[in-house]
Amino acid sequence: MHELSLISAIIKVLREKVREFNVRRVLQVNLTVGELTNVEEATLNAAFEVCVEGTELAGAKLVMERVPARGKCRHCATEFALVKYRLQCPQCNRQGVEIVAGKEFYLNSMEVE
Ligand SMILES: [Zn+2]
Repeated sequence: MHELSLISAIIKVLREKVREFNVRRVLQVNLTVGELTNVEEATLNAAFEVCVEGTELAGAKLVMERVPARGKCRHCATEFALVKYRLQCPQCNRQGVEIVAGKEFYLNSMEVE
């Protein structure tokens, strides 16, 4: 379950911030999650709840902003939405696509009390 290792890393950062800014309670955690990360929302939520139990993060709501996958053609530089890993340029029909969005996974912000 790669969600567990992903969320553990996020929680580590969150707890550092909580200490740094002397936060009493975290209400909401906003994550940016790319479509290509294969992160399942329910699994991530479950992993988060287990990991934060008994910490200053308990009860915080996890909100995921999804980023659609986008590719850029290495030949003609056209940018387009990637559909199911079809790595072919819709403009020049050649193979060779660089993924420019969709692999994101990071902590965007948190709302605190
Ligand atoms: Zn192209």
